[in-house]
Amino acid sequence: MRPEEDLQKVHQRRKNRESLLETLESIVVAFVLAFIFRAFIVEAFVIPTGSMAPTLYGAHAEFRCECGYEFAVGVEGRLVRAPVCPNCFLEQTVPERTTVFSGDRLLVLKYLYDFQPPQRWDVIVFHNPNDPSQNYIKRLIALPDETLELVDGNITINGRIAHKTDVAQEALWMVVHDTRNRPTRRGWEPRWLADSEWKVRDAGYVLEKVPEGPKAAWLTYRHRNGQGRPANITDFYAYNTGGSDSRTLPVVVTDLGLHSRVTVMSLASVVVAEMRAYKDRFKFELSPKGSDQPCRIWINDKLVAHGAGGALPVGRAADIEVANVDHKLMLLVDGARVARETAFETTPEGDVTYEPRHLTQEERDRYDDPPDEDLRHMATEVRIGVRGGPAKFAYLRLDRDVYYLNEDIHGGRIVQEPGRASQGNPFHLEAGEYFVCGDNSPKSFDSRLWGLDRPVVPERNLVGKAFFVYWPSAGWRYGIPVAPDPTGWRLVH
Ligand SMILES: [Zn+2]
Repeated sequence: MRPEEDLQKVHQRRKNRESLLETLESIVVAFVLAFIFRAFIVEAFVIPTGSMAPTLYGAHAEFRCECGYEFAVGVEGRLVRAPVCPNCFLEQTVPERTTVFSGDRLLVLKYLYDFQPPQRWDVIVFHNPNDPSQNYIKRLIALPDETLELVDGNITINGRIAHKTDVAQEALWMVVHDTRNRPTRRGWEPRWLADSEWKVRDAGYVLEKVPEGPKAAWLTYRHRNGQGRPANITDFYAYNTGGSDSRTLPVVVTDLGLHSRVTVMSLASVVVAEMRAYKDRFKFELSPKGSDQPCRIWINDKLVAHGAGGALPVGRAADIEVANVDHKLMLLVDGARVARETAFETTPEGDVTYEPRHLTQEERDRYDDPPDEDLRHMATEVRIGVRGGPAKFAYLRLDRDVYYLNEDIHGGRIVQEPGRASQGNPFHLEAGEYFVCGDNSPKSFDSRLWGLDRPVVPERNLVGKAFFVYWPSAGWRYGIPVAPDPTGWRLVH
């Protein structure tokens, strides 16, 4: 072999290698690009039903109540009944021609689960195990190798209650009453009973006269039903009020969150809140920054948590959240936990957890149906107040948590199906099995009702994680398409 030939061959080989590398590189780049693109691929996915309402809407109509509250109502064909406002229970007037909006359209992260396992509370898209040609969307409630029990509307995993993530909780709060939408019509009883020291101002309340000594001036919540009579807070879904739903028995809900924007005017002003769920009483105190008093939480008069000091800024508005949810007490100022130094059991976030006191069935029945005007068996009590110094609330919004039903879902039809995972009848998931529930618990056809031997989503049926609503509320009005409303673009949690 001549040296030139040799050189040429080496050169050729190098060129080959280089072009091979280039080809490989471009394949990898193309692959990565395709991968990134496909990871965000838009499944032509329209929410088909209202099973995830109010987080996601199926075909629906939109209403603005005279109280100002805006809400959506599921429409299957047409509205069968007059929808009811969740904020004030006013029956709405249905216009002659109702604009029906199609379901939310979603972007789905299809490859996320190749990198990390699905997490509880994820909203997932999957092939319906009964008919894999259909896509379903639900919330992931239990994971492989876990034992699930639905107890009092809560998710219990391996005998311990599962706490929602903050973003999931935010999505699952449903309005009970918001004073920013206060009805002005005659005969409407205010939901908050105000001690005489408080004056209504705009959507909120101002403490005009500070009570003497340790006494607080209170605002006490009194729930009322559609007839205006005192009633327990229930799993009312305004979204379902326009349809021909046969389920009529509401379920009492005791998991509540109170949100407000408060301004304290002095170092002596302390915000106090009290909640009761059946027999358990919770007390919360929020003190101003710079005061010598910490923020504190009590359970049945026992101090269970306190902060390092005060948390409310003096003279400036702060968003506060006081909640009893999933056997967990939360006390937040501007999104941060403020009572976390504790001898009690807490979550990693610093919330206090507790075991509820047991109720007999007789007691439970009494709470389920409190006699009119007799408040002794109201399942919950909520009040908030201020002592020591001046303060104001810009508004008060009371929310209730989702209640996962496991009984009487369809007009009293009690079925002992494996997916019920009812109390005392836990359901164990095997490897590669996922359990799903819709946020619209009374109107969701999900694992609880599939009636399969294994009422689960097998891993191979997973499509991806819903993460963004990109085309909400597309609809038709008088034969003309209604443009998508960008204010509805949102992340799915
Ligand atoms: Zn209303």
